[in-house]
Amino acid sequence: MPTDVPGIHHVTAIASDPGPNLEFFTETLGLRLVKRSVNQDDVSVYHLFYGDRSGSPGTSMTLFPYTGARRGRVGTGQVSTVSFLIPEESLDYWVDRFDERGVDADEPRERFGDAVVPFRDPDGLPLELVAREDAASGDPPKGSVPDEHAIRGFFGVTLSLASAGPTATLLKAMGYRETESERGRSRYESSGDLGYVVDLLEDPQAPRGRPGAGTVHHVAFRVTEDDQSEWRDVLMEHGLRPTEIIDRKWFESVYARTEGGVLFEFATESPGYTVDEDIDALGERLVLPEWLEDRRDEIEAGLPDLQTQG
Ligand code: ZN
Repeated sequence: MPTDVPGIHHVTAIASDPGPNLEFFTETLGLRLVKRSVNQDDVSVYHLFYGDRSGSPGTSMTLFPYTGARRGRVGTGQVSTVSFLIPEESLDYWVDRFDERGVDADEPRERFGDAVVPFRDPDGLPLELVAREDAASGDPPKGSVPDEHAIRGFFGVTLSLASAGPTATLLKAMGYRETESERGRSRYESSGDLGYVVDLLEDPQAPRGRPGAGTVHHVAFRVTEDDQSEWRDVLMEHGLRPTEIIDRKWFESVYARTEGGVLFEFATESPGYTVDEDIDALGERLVLPEWLEDRRDEIEAGLPDLQTQG
């Protein structure tokens, strides 16, 4: 058996215009732009990676910003919320910050004993801050938020499902165990200290999600290179049809559409975002994998303007 999955590697969502997206994730949330690249399956679109100082696994939120994209609909068969971890004593800081900056946010509420602040990005993507006493100290992004209050990385994701059973079975095979349950929400936790929570929200009556701006494209889980092909086997044993192992330059990936409709990725922890850029220069220039480098001029000409903060 492969080693248990310690948690999320990254989450990828769809946005509309790249400018407001970049400003929100870096200036408002204080994450670092750790990689500026293109969607390897559609090179006319950026792929922006935000995270902690080095974009460690468990911290990187990535977006495909399609200029002018129509909004999708959040519903079943999707990751319906992405949750970030903050220290418990930073709750007031963030409530004030969201208020001052006019972020579309709700009042803090409690879930399974934690304070939770729901909010949306400029495209309506459902996000949350979860404040916990045991938040890992991490490697702060050194951005617009003081280290003590910085987002540590992911807390977890919520999957909205018409039927939770098959996804719960798969999560257990990945090393997650059920820890809490109330009103259609079941919590599964793994052993890591970032991105270790998956909540399954079961609602057979809820509308099905529709892809578009403001929706999650997929969630990636952390695996080691040695275990990658064994995870492929596990996915096949669960009746799924995983892709081959795909080289994504900063990690290697296997994808599979789960029975509940959510696209899962299994991504390796290495080599990481510093494989092709110095840690101090992450995100400053457009980075392309070598197999796209000979098309750089054409690709750059086809991308929208994007001003990054120096
Ligand atoms: Zn991915």
